Amino acid sequence: MSATPQPTVLVVEDEPAQREVLAYNLEAEGFRVVKAENGEEGLIMVDEETPDIIVLDWMLPNVSGIEVCRRLKTRTDTRTIPILMLSARSEEVDKVRGLETGADDYVVKPYSVIELMARVRAQLRRTRPATVGERLEYEDIVLDAETHRVTRDGDELKLGPTEFRLLSTFMEKPGRVWSREQLLDRVWGRDIYVDTRTVDVHIGRLRKALTRFGGTDPLRTVRGAGYALG
Ligand code: CA
Repeated sequence: MSATPQPTVLVVEDEPAQREVLAYNLEAEGFRVVKAENGEEGLIMVDEETPDIIVLDWMLPNVSGIEVCRRLKTRTDTRTIPILMLSARSEEVDKVRGLETGADDYVVKPYSVIELMARVRAQLRRTRPATVGERLEYEDIVLDAETHRVTRDGDELKLGPTEFRLLSTFMEKPGRVWSREQLLDRVWGRDIYVDTRTVDVHIGRLRKALTRFGGTDPLRTVRGAGYALG
């Protein structure tokens, strides 16, 4: 487990060769990749894997990419997941725009891998900044995801890898209340079994590190709900 939170990319593409090329390149960029062969499978994977971004082909058998996009963008729990739509022709892109399916970006096939990776990173910079090496700030706390340095009011704080991931999760969305289960998914990964009380232990360590050189405790315990920054 690396210290930087690894974003999950869901690739929905029915053509095996294209799916594998995409997965290969995304994995080489350091992303965790999950794959779906069609729209139905894509929708199931969204619920099972809670991806950070979806690369979605327009032309899919049965449930089309547009339909998948439309469904995800009308659901409150999935509408903030960025969707990058792949289409075969530029006229389709115009159609996607016209249909207002809510896709966040569009790439026309054949696309350059470099361009596609840049578009994926651009979306993640907006929604999951810590996963693409951005610098995050909250009041006097600065977290540099590239160098893994955290400072508070100029003093460097020493954080363990889990505390670093916890803090970057909080700093991506100040004010948001995270349940212990959500933090487990985001920070430990859902494939690993960890007791929810472990979250409390690491929150305690993070609090201690954040207040080591003074300053108030920026983490808020929300009774019956979880934790929030600010
Ligand atoms: Ca296709």
